[in-house]
Amino acid sequence: MTAGTVTLASIERELEDIERDAVVRAAEAADAAALEAVRVGVLGKKGSLTKVLRGLAGLDGGERPQAGQVANRVKKAVDEALAVRREAIGTARLAARLGGPQVDVTLPASGQPTGHVHPLSVVMDELCGIFLSLGFSIAEGPEVEDDFHNFEALNIPADHPARDMQDTFFIEGGRLLRTHTSPVQVRTMKGTEPPLMIVAPGAVYRHDDDVTHSPMFHQIEGLMVGRGVTFRNLKAVLTEFLARIFGPDLAVKFRPSYFPFTEPSAEVDIGCVMCRGTGSGDAGADAGRCKVCKGTGWLEILGCGMVHPKVFADVGYDPEVYTGFAFGIGVERIAMLKLRIDDIRLFYGHDMRFLAQF
Ligand SMILES: [Zn+2]
Repeated sequence: MTAGTVTLASIERELEDIERDAVVRAAEAADAAALEAVRVGVLGKKGSLTKVLRGLAGLDGGERPQAGQVANRVKKAVDEALAVRREAIGTARLAARLGGPQVDVTLPASGQPTGHVHPLSVVMDELCGIFLSLGFSIAEGPEVEDDFHNFEALNIPADHPARDMQDTFFIEGGRLLRTHTSPVQVRTMKGTEPPLMIVAPGAVYRHDDDVTHSPMFHQIEGLMVGRGVTFRNLKAVLTEFLARIFGPDLAVKFRPSYFPFTEPSAEVDIGCVMCRGTGSGDAGADAGRCKVCKGTGWLEILGCGMVHPKVFADVGYDPEVYTGFAFGIGVERIAMLKLRIDDIRLFYGHDMRFLAQF
């Protein structure tokens, strides 16, 4: 045997040296980086063990398996030593962190403020929740509408003066932004046989902008159709709804009104929630009158009525068989009264001091 010749015995010796050295150096590694250096030095592409493994090719065919076994055992031993030390380093680092500078957990946090539901959504959910509990289900429709669903099918033909009451945003191609949620009634009736009870919440658009009007606002449309549905059902549902929103002792008044798509129609007033129906304000304020109801003691709260037979005819319901009622509720109006807010624009601003209160 000449010096430098690869023999089984020399390879085994070399492997054992590598193992001994690696185990010692792994145990001594001070941190994760030092441990990684040990790993690369032994098992890396140019590592000592890798080199030996390559040298196995020079062995006699019969000796190769035995050398391979030793090499595998050494590799396993080195892996184990590395793993043991890795865990020890991790534990030590955690202990150091826990034992480090103490954190005063009673100090106020400086983290991100938590998000919350927008006040309009809170009120919208509450209103819809009441109708769901009364047996209504939710219906939806598009915000971009056509003339037929927004006007024509609701008994508002092209030359009808009611069109002027709803300053409409028109879009190219004869389409428009819906001015009320009533088109959802039409769409629902066209696709459903009576009886039905739906509420349709959603955004509507009108060319209007002041402290009590916004170009975009929200309505909840309600519709109940069946055999023998009468104005008494309408009164019962809306009285129950208003009592649940504003309290059981609420005064409610149904006042004759006009809408093209209902007949008879009514506007519903409630006793003013600010002055409790007395009409008087704080001494000195607005000459002693309540500013919210302007001293009348009443607030207009919603519009409603029995569905016009012409609307039924347009959707294919027989007005001789079916009757029904519909109502439209302004969500902002109710939210402003409930939350005592006097400027509708606050809902659409981004003032967190306002929004975070609710
Ligand atoms: Zn009042």
